[in-house]
Amino acid sequence: MREKQRGLALGAAALLALAAALYFLPRGAGRETRRYEAVWYDLFDTVTTLRGYAAGEAAFEQEAGRIHDALLEYHRLCDIYNDYPGLVNLKSVNDGAGGAPLRADPRLLDLLELCRSMYEDSGGAVDVTMGAVLALWHTARENETPPDPAALVEAAKHGGFAFLEMDAEAMTLRLTDAGARLDVGAVAKGWAAARVMEHAPEGYLLSVGGNVCASGPKPGGAAWVVALENPDGGWLHTLELTRGSVVTSGDYQRFFLGPDGTRYHHIIDPETLQPARRWRAVSVLHPDSGVADALSTALFVLDRPAGEALVERRGGAALWVAPDGEEYRTEGFLTVS
Ligand code: ADP
Ligand code: MG
Repeated sequence: MREKQRGLALGAAALLALAAALYFLPRGAGRETRRYEAVWYDLFDTVTTLRGYAAGEAAFEQEAGRIHDALLEYHRLCDIYNDYPGLVNLKSVNDGAGGAPLRADPRLLDLLELCRSMYEDSGGAVDVTMGAVLALWHTARENETPPDPAALVEAAKHGGFAFLEMDAEAMTLRLTDAGARLDVGAVAKGWAAARVMEHAPEGYLLSVGGNVCASGPKPGGAAWVVALENPDGGWLHTLELTRGSVVTSGDYQRFFLGPDGTRYHHIIDPETLQPARRWRAVSVLHPDSGVADALSTALFVLDRPAGEALVERRGGAALWVAPDGEEYRTEGFLTVS
C-alpha cells in the first residue's frame, strides 16, 4: 500500500515535471508562450485593453497592431463627430440627412441591420435612430444641465427606422428626414470587438470600455476570469469566460448630478426621453458581443419580464442590479464569486 502511494506520488511528480517542461518548452521562433498586454486610448472615447498569450513580444505586437488598426477602422466608420478624408462614415450620413443616398462601407450596413433587428425585437428600447435626442443629452452632460423637455419632444419626432433607407444591393444609406440623426454608441463597441476578435487567435481577451470579448481559453485550456463592477464601487462578481462576451450597461459610467442629487446618466428611455431609472446595471452574456452590447442597453431600459424574454430569445443570459441593490439573473448567468 505504502509502495503504491509512493509510486503514485512519484508518478504525479513526473507528470508535474513533464507539464512544467512542456510549458517552458521553446515554441514559435524558440520562445515560450507568455502573457502580454496592450492599452489604447484612441478608440471609441474609452479605454481599450488587450491581453493575450503569444510566443514572444514581437508576435504579440503584431497581433495587437492588427487588432488596434481594425478597431480604429470601425471607430472611424461609427464616428458621428469627425470627418475622415475619403471615408463615408456615420457623420457623413447624419450631415447628408434629407439629401441623396450615400454609398457606404458594407460593414456599416451590417451594423445598422443588427441595430434595426434589435430595435424591432426590443420594442424600440434600443433605438440608434434617436440620435437627435441623444445629442441633446450629450450636450446636457457637457453643460451639466438637463435638456429642455420641449426640445426633447421635438427631437424625438425625427427618430425611427422609418427614416433610415438601407439599400443592401446599391450599398447606400440615407436618412430621409433632414432632422434625423444616427448614434450607434449603444452597439458599436461590442459589435466592433466581436468582428475583430473573430479573426484573433485563441487566448486573447479584449475589453473595449468594459465590453469584454474572449477569442478562446488561455494556453492549457483555462478560462479568463472577468470581474463585474459594483455600481457603488469595487467589484460585484467574477465570472469565467473562454469564448464570447460579457457586456455591462450602468448608470455609473457617464453621468452628472442635478442640484437635488438626481443622477442624469447616459442611457435614455425612448418612451420618457429621460435617463432610464429601473436598474443600476445590467450585464449580458452572449456569444456575439455586438448582440450583447445592444441587449445590455435594451435590458437597462426594459422591465424584467420583457428583458428576460428578449435575452432568452436571443440566446443570452443576464444579471440585473436594481436601485435597492437586489440582484436578479437568468439561469445561464453563472458567476464564480
Ligand atoms: P456604454 O456606451 O457606456 O457601454 P451602452 O452600451 O448602454 O453604454 O450605450 C450607451 C450609449 O448609447 C449612450 O452614450 C448613447 O449614445 C446611446 N444610447 C443611450 N440610450 C440609448 C437607447 N435607448 N437606444 C440606443 N442608444 C442609446
Ligand atoms: Mg450597449
